[in-house]
Amino acid sequence: MRAIIIGAGIAGLAAALKLSQLGWDTLILERAPARRSGGYAVTFGGIGHDGAERLGILPDLKAKAFATAELAYHKPSGERRFALDRDTIAATTGPRSLTILRGDLETVLYDKVRDHTEIRFATTLTHIDQDQRTVRVTLTDGTIEEADLLIGADGLHSATRALLFGPEQDFLLDLDHKVAVYMLDRRPAAIAPGTTATLSSKGRTAAVISIGDGRNVAFFGYRAGHARPGEDVATQLGRVYGDLGWVIPETLAGLQRADSVYFDTISQVVAPRWSTGRVVLLGDAAWCVTLFAGYGSSLAVGGADLLGTSLADHPGDIPAALTTWEARLRPEVTAKQKLGRRVKGVYAPANPVVLWLTQLPLRLATLPPVRRYLTRRFIKG
Ligand SMILES: Cc1cc2nc3c(=O)[nH]c(=O)nc-3n(C[C@H](O)[C@H](O)[C@H](O)COP(=O)(O)OP(=O)(O)OC[C@H]3O[C@@H](n4cnc5c(N)ncnc54)[C@H](O)[C@@H]3O)c2cc1C
Repeated sequence: MRAIIIGAGIAGLAAALKLSQLGWDTLILERAPARRSGGYAVTFGGIGHDGAERLGILPDLKAKAFATAELAYHKPSGERRFALDRDTIAATTGPRSLTILRGDLETVLYDKVRDHTEIRFATTLTHIDQDQRTVRVTLTDGTIEEADLLIGADGLHSATRALLFGPEQDFLLDLDHKVAVYMLDRRPAAIAPGTTATLSSKGRTAAVISIGDGRNVAFFGYRAGHARPGEDVATQLGRVYGDLGWVIPETLAGLQRADSVYFDTISQVVAPRWSTGRVVLLGDAAWCVTLFAGYGSSLAVGGADLLGTSLADHPGDIPAALTTWEARLRPEVTAKQKLGRRVKGVYAPANPVVLWLTQLPLRLATLPPVRRYLTRRFIKG
C-alpha cells in the first residue's frame, strides 16, 4: 500500500510514521524548501498522548518536554498581579500531558520517520484525480505520482482541501483574533529563566516564555479590531503594542533578529466531511481547533494514529476506513471547536472588569487549599 502525504508538519509526519509502522510505502510532499524550526510552546495531551504512546515516541517527547517553573500574570506596567507555581500549572493541565515546543515535537517525529519515508521539499501538488482503484497527484515539477491514499496534512490554508473540496472561505471560521509568535534570541532580563510572564490589556495579550535551555518564545495575541489590512507583522505589532512598556519594547525588537515568524488570523476549519474516496484531510487542514482550544497538535498525532488503526482494520476498503475513522474522531473535534469558540470571548478582554473575572479562577488556584485540592485531584489522584 502506498500513501502520498501533503505537508511535513506534525500531522503529516505522524501519519507517515504510523503508516510506515504498518508496512505502507509513504511519500511526503512539503512546500517549504527545508524543515522549519522553533515555533511556540504547545500543551500536548489527551488523544495525542495516547497516540504518542502507541507510536512509541513518548519517551522522546518527554526528553524534549519542559516544565514551567512559574507562570506570572503582570499589569502592563510590569507590576505582578499573581503567579502560578510549577505544581499548580501541572494540576491545571492534568496528568498525561506535557509541554513542548512545536518544532521539537516535529523533530521527534521527523527523526523517527526520516529513514522510512521519502520527503520531497519545495514540492506541492497542482491536481488530484482519483478512481475506484487509485489516486493520481500532479506535482509542481510536472510529474505524476500514484497511490492508494492521499492525505492532505497541509495545515490551515490547505491546498489539498481547496483542490478537492472548494475554496478556503467556504471552510474557515474566523475567530476575530490575530496571533504572532517567534523565537527570541535573548531573554529579557526581567524574565527569570524557565518561567513564563504574560500580560493582558485592552484586547491584547503578550507573553514571553523562557524554556530554560536558553531558548525563548515571544507570543502576541490580540483582537482583530486592532489590525489593519495589509500591514506587515513588524508594523502591526509595533503599532498595536507600542504604548506598552516593561519587557514589550525589548520583545518587539527581537522580531528584527528572528529567523521566522508565525503570523496569521485565528481561524477554525469547519468541514462537513474530511474525506472523499481515497483522499482524506488530517490535522489543521481538516479541523483546526485553534490555540484557543490548545489541542491541535494533540489531535494531529492522535488523529494520525487512529487513521492508521482504521486503515489496518479495513484492509482493501479505504473509503470505509476513512468513514469509520471520521465517526470516531469527530465528536472530540466538535467538542474542542466549541471550547475554542467559548475561549474566544474571554481570551483577550477589552474590559478590565471582564479581565479580572476571567483571571479569578487562576487567582483562586494560587490559594493553598485550592492548590492542594488540585494537586490531590489531578497529580496524585
Ligand atoms: C500560537 C499557537 C499555539 C498553539 N498551542 C497549542 C497547544 O497548546 N496545544 C496543541 O495541541 N496545539 C496547539 N496549537 C495548534 C498546533 O500547533 C497545530 O494544530 C498543529 O501544529 C497542526 O499541525 P498540522 O501538521 O496539521 O499543520 P501545520 O503545522 O500547519 O503543518 C502543515 C505543513 O504543511 C506544509 N504545507 C502547507 N501548504 C502546503 C502545500 N500546498 N503543499 C505542501 N506542503 C504544504 C507546511 O509548510 C507545513 O509543514 C497552537 C497553535 C498556535 C498557532
